Amino acid sequence: MSCEDCKSKDTCQTKETGCKEENPKLMPRYGKIKNIIGIISGKGGVGKSTVTGIIATMLAKKGYKVGVLDADITGPSMPRFFGVNDKRATIIPLENDMVKFEPVETDSEIKVISMNLLTAVEDEPVIWRGPVITGVLKQMFVETNWGELDYLLIDMPPGTGDIALTVMQELPIDEIVVVSTPQDMVSMIVKKVVIMAQKIGIKIKGVVENMAYINCPDCDKKIRVFSKKSSEENADYLGIPLIGELPINIELTEALESGKAEEYVRENSLYSLIFEGLY
Ligand code: ADP
Repeated sequence: MSCEDCKSKDTCQTKETGCKEENPKLMPRYGKIKNIIGIISGKGGVGKSTVTGIIATMLAKKGYKVGVLDADITGPSMPRFFGVNDKRATIIPLENDMVKFEPVETDSEIKVISMNLLTAVEDEPVIWRGPVITGVLKQMFVETNWGELDYLLIDMPPGTGDIALTVMQELPIDEIVVVSTPQDMVSMIVKKVVIMAQKIGIKIKGVVENMAYINCPDCDKKIRVFSKKSSEENADYLGIPLIGELPINIELTEALESGKAEEYVRENSLYSLIFEGLY
């Protein structure tokens, strides 16, 4: 070991240990996580949280130990997907003003932490500026008692702003899954996120094209409601592989609204077909 190759004097620790890592990533304090996957989209409302919930449920169905960090601090929706919005995460005070969060567990033992599980009531808004939000988000990642996890899925904040940038740069994300819908205006904005991830050097697994079609109830044909372009064409435009396409499905929305999405997804073969081979 030596400090000769360090980029600057500041990054030299000692002659014995060599250079410090330039940008050390945050690490969870309680537990061990094997894989961290970010689910991202440039725009709100395209189904990023829904896809996060679906992938988490499919991984748990395969027997993996799964956690979900709802990093969409101002628009958290993961507790609703899992029907745990009436529960509360426990905040355990420790010495030196430190805290430890005990996440809420879903039916399939997925560990969920979300701003909505930490506020007194679900509809209380979080009226904070960016730096406060990023601070809390980092704390939720570091101070949650994740235990041993095979996968932690992060429902990323929408857009390419301050908060998404912090998550991508400071959390040790292994790769991201992109969610889009077949509308040119959406793909254009989603492409910005793809380029942002590429610039930061994060691996991209591919894109899930959500709301790609509806199934005609009479003839069972796929009707493309938003665009005649295929999902493959949209993935080509983004320059990343297509993971699969999901229909607009009113039963999924209904399940989501009644807190039964986890059960619905677990029992629906469509999701197994698309996501079983993903990890
Ligand atoms: P985002 O996280 O991108 O803001 P959400 O996952 O919260 O988006 O989805 C927005 C809304 O669209 C939710 O009400 C959700 O139930 C609904 N939704 C998402 N995907 C589908 C789908 N494939 N079929 C039917 N409704 C969907």
